[in-house]
Amino acid sequence: MDVLKYAIELVAVLLLALGIKGLSKVRSARGANQLAAVAMALAVLGLLINYLGTSGITAAAWIWIIVGTLIGGSLGAITAQRVPMTSMPETVALFNGCGGMSSLLVALAAALYPLALEATGPVALVSIVVSVFVGSITFTGSIVAMAKLQGWLSTPAWMQSQLRHVVNIALAVAALVGAIEMLRTGGGATGLWLLVAASGLLGIGVTLPIGGADMPVVISLLNSYSGVAAAAAGFVVGSQLLIVAGAMVGAAGLILTQVMCDGMNRSLVSVLFGGALGASSTSGAGGGEYTNITSCSSEECALTLEAAERVIIVPGYGLAVAQAQHTLREVTRVLESAGIDVAYAIHPVAGRMPGHMNVLLAEADVPYEQLKEMDQINPEFPATDVVLVLGANDVVNPQAKNDPESPLYGMPVLDVQEARTVFVVKRGMSAGYSGIKNDLFELSNTSMVFGDAKKVLGDLLVELKDLGLGKK
Ligand code: NDP
Repeated sequence: MDVLKYAIELVAVLLLALGIKGLSKVRSARGANQLAAVAMALAVLGLLINYLGTSGITAAAWIWIIVGTLIGGSLGAITAQRVPMTSMPETVALFNGCGGMSSLLVALAAALYPLALEATGPVALVSIVVSVFVGSITFTGSIVAMAKLQGWLSTPAWMQSQLRHVVNIALAVAALVGAIEMLRTGGGATGLWLLVAASGLLGIGVTLPIGGADMPVVISLLNSYSGVAAAAAGFVVGSQLLIVAGAMVGAAGLILTQVMCDGMNRSLVSVLFGGALGASSTSGAGGGEYTNITSCSSEECALTLEAAERVIIVPGYGLAVAQAQHTLREVTRVLESAGIDVAYAIHPVAGRMPGHMNVLLAEADVPYEQLKEMDQINPEFPATDVVLVLGANDVVNPQAKNDPESPLYGMPVLDVQEARTVFVVKRGMSAGYSGIKNDLFELSNTSMVFGDAKKVLGDLLVELKDLGLGKK
């Protein structure tokens, strides 16, 4: 039985590593995800095979396992089918919370029934403490993050003051006391419940004050924590596979957090402890009046596009909201059929989650080679005839480079203003996520094309076809 279990675990680890590697490319990501899912199924199978060899599993326990798997599996499948792309960050937060809760429950079971789970000795005890601490923080923190992203929760006024640091430090100290008490008494109940309560409240206290714009960074960090909690739970129950998988998730989440912080020019410390960057602004011009705006119709935009040799598309959050990726693809097909060179400029934090634009465009069969990362495409803007900015705002705001007073100052942005002509497609003059004015909109080579991105692109398609493009 042992050999079979280890063989299955080894295959699962290899598949998991291959899966994570495959996720780095849009083209292989779908298959890689399926590979990782198979790895997880194998991991569960390996665990069950291991338990077949022990006598401690009763028939009632098997029923719990089977019913739990069926309920959890169905909920996961239904959620994955139904959730729209724009709600992905909330979903990821919820799943992270489930991961944290699982590790917490495993550690609790081991702490309460150490003999049944063979979780005795100093290594198991330290692992239980770590798993309870990180699992509780991950669970409560992720649920708060999800509720904030959904708009169900807002930050109470006192949480925006310095008082929150005092409360959080007190909670951290209480968690430490609980952990020491547990270690001192060899897993005593008083220390255990103090640790559970204090770390759970700490998760809420740390996450609640963080503003909307920073929330995805926090979710990525909580994702990393869920990996650490899983790895600690792996030590508790002696599962090498859980240790390896948890460590991979922990490391990947940490790297992603760093990438996102760099993309938004925020340090992790300022995200966690500083004042939050202005949260989402959905109405009003936001951050200042516009005085010199030029707007045009989709017909004028189509005429300029027809005369262009090189066009760069800049997708943003608004494109995702409008679900305009398929219409966009039709427009670019028409442009390409007329011999116009088309590329897509992908900013690392365009949209509301890492890789948002890549996923969106891959869904519409945009060739992967046409997606250019920011550093790669920025030098190409001066030699570009037309830039079409679609529902993007902060990621094309020149203030980030020119205005030291701007909250965006220092964030790397796409230098679209260097192109000959820039068309910005959005519904009105509302600000982006940062809530500030965008100087790009007032530049002489910029024209606004007002309207929902899908509607404008649909009109553009008609106009371009009327001009005779796409007939070859
Ligand atoms: P922004 O949020 O800056 O701007 C989106 C724009 O889309 C708005 O100005 C809005 O203007 C417009 N819009 C909304 N709906 C539509 C629609 N149906 N049709 C056309 N336009 C629409 O998006 P960006 O992608 O430029 O920037 C992303 C922001 O999110 C950055 O501030 C980034 O730091 C932040 N962020 C991103 C993360 C990530 O991982 N990607 C993580 C955390 C934060 P209007 O209402 O006038 O139409």
